[in-house]
Amino acid sequence: MVGEPSNHRLLPGTTRSLEDREARAVDFGRMTRQVPEAVATPRSVAEVANLVHRAGRAGIGLAIRGGGHSQGGRSLTDRGVVLDTTCLNRVQPVGSELVRAQGGARWGDVVDALKGARRLPPVLVDIGEATVGGTLAAGGIGTTSHRHGAQVEQVEQLEVVTGTGERIRCSPTQNAGLFNAVRSGQGQFGIITEAWIRLRPAGARFRQYELHYRDFERFVEDLDLLMESDRFDHLRAELRHRENLIVLLASNEYDELPDDDRALESLGYDELVYTRDTASVGRAGMYPSWSFSWLHYHPWRDWMLPWEALPRLLAQPMLPPDSMPRRAWSWIGLYPIGRGEVEAPLFMRPPQKRLISYSVLAVMGEFEREKAIELAKKLEDVDRELVGLGAKSYLSGSVGYSPEQWEQHYGEMLGQGIRWKREFDPNHVFHSADMPFGVGA
Ligand SMILES: Cc1cc2nc3c(=O)[nH]c(=O)nc-3n(C[C@H](O)[C@H](O)[C@H](O)COP(=O)(O)OP(=O)(O)OC[C@H]3O[C@@H](n4cnc5c(N)ncnc54)[C@H](O)[C@@H]3O)c2cc1C
Repeated sequence: MVGEPSNHRLLPGTTRSLEDREARAVDFGRMTRQVPEAVATPRSVAEVANLVHRAGRAGIGLAIRGGGHSQGGRSLTDRGVVLDTTCLNRVQPVGSELVRAQGGARWGDVVDALKGARRLPPVLVDIGEATVGGTLAAGGIGTTSHRHGAQVEQVEQLEVVTGTGERIRCSPTQNAGLFNAVRSGQGQFGIITEAWIRLRPAGARFRQYELHYRDFERFVEDLDLLMESDRFDHLRAELRHRENLIVLLASNEYDELPDDDRALESLGYDELVYTRDTASVGRAGMYPSWSFSWLHYHPWRDWMLPWEALPRLLAQPMLPPDSMPRRAWSWIGLYPIGRGEVEAPLFMRPPQKRLISYSVLAVMGEFEREKAIELAKKLEDVDRELVGLGAKSYLSGSVGYSPEQWEQHYGEMLGQGIRWKREFDPNHVFHSADMPFGVGA
């Protein structure tokens, strides 16, 4: 069984250079450090299949890594090989309805490949460096999720290399079990080597309004109104407890100059701080690539809550306001979420139709490790409180759950996940120490 110190020399195309291993020893969260024994950077799907097949036979564990923008060590290993997917990055529009993107393509590259096409994936994440495979392994939510749900609900077909090294196409009608396992599957069942992603019409330009609210009840009323009236293409909010402020970014894509009065009609914000226009429609909702430093610690967690929990979320801070560092890009954020077209059974979310996502992402300096650990602990308490309000964790990385907490998280899907693990990764090639599907290994 996989998990023993590895004899990685049996794997073709791996490198043991310290530089390459160090480059994959931390993730964006930076709270965990694990130096892999070797690194593989396959350049073709055939190479991936060969690597996985041989790893299974040799008892070598693989950690799949895309952009490494997860946390808690989900894409790390110190007892095996990191399989870095980022050389599998081809993006190819197919007519006006679909784009084919390899699993290691970054979302920023997907947007760039569609430049001028006036089509975009229904949902984009706010970090252009995350990969297609990486966010499909989690869920993928963003500024348009109030309309379109999650990215996992927007893919038509996937190509996957399973734990036995088989290369398989899957969709809702073909190998549906595998299709359901790998979407939000946390890289536990197979490597997503290519995705056929639906496209939607996109405007030529993007207009964003930054609206400030000091009256939180009024914000809730307005968000309700915006969900009902569906008048904005993009919605995203930031909670700044220390300033007693909510910042709502509401945006529309447009071809003809939009009517601001109509867009903002009957909203009760305190201040319209700016109106911003850009022609970079796909990248408008993404952080600039220079925003974050990999030298910083980023304790963070994400959840999805029933819409009805929103007033409680805002009534009092989940964390003492001083716990959040006063650093640029530290944020407590909200995205409204609706349902997409194709259900993804491992994308665990509260059952309600309308949800709100809640994220806390702290940016802490390179000499603030102790403080970062303290905050990560507090976030575990916040998790328990939010789960008590009906939340599900959004697995943007490892969450350190106990077996009981996993049972609570996955409910009936836990048994199915265990069966899928046996079916698609019987030798436990894919790194799974912190996930609950590998029981009986
Ligand atoms: C600043 C910041 C902003 C973010 N914003 C958003 C956001 O707007 N919306 C959102 O949904 N998430 C967001 N996230 C979370 C992030 O998208 C997820 O953690 C995502 O999994 C990271 O993708 P990655 O390519 O970096 O994956 P990695 O961190 O490399 O890997 C994450 C997980 O995905 C698995 N995986 C990676 N590639 C594949 C593949 N090809 N096939 C199968 N499994 C694979 C890995 O095994 C691992 O379990 C954000 C994260 C950060 C740091």
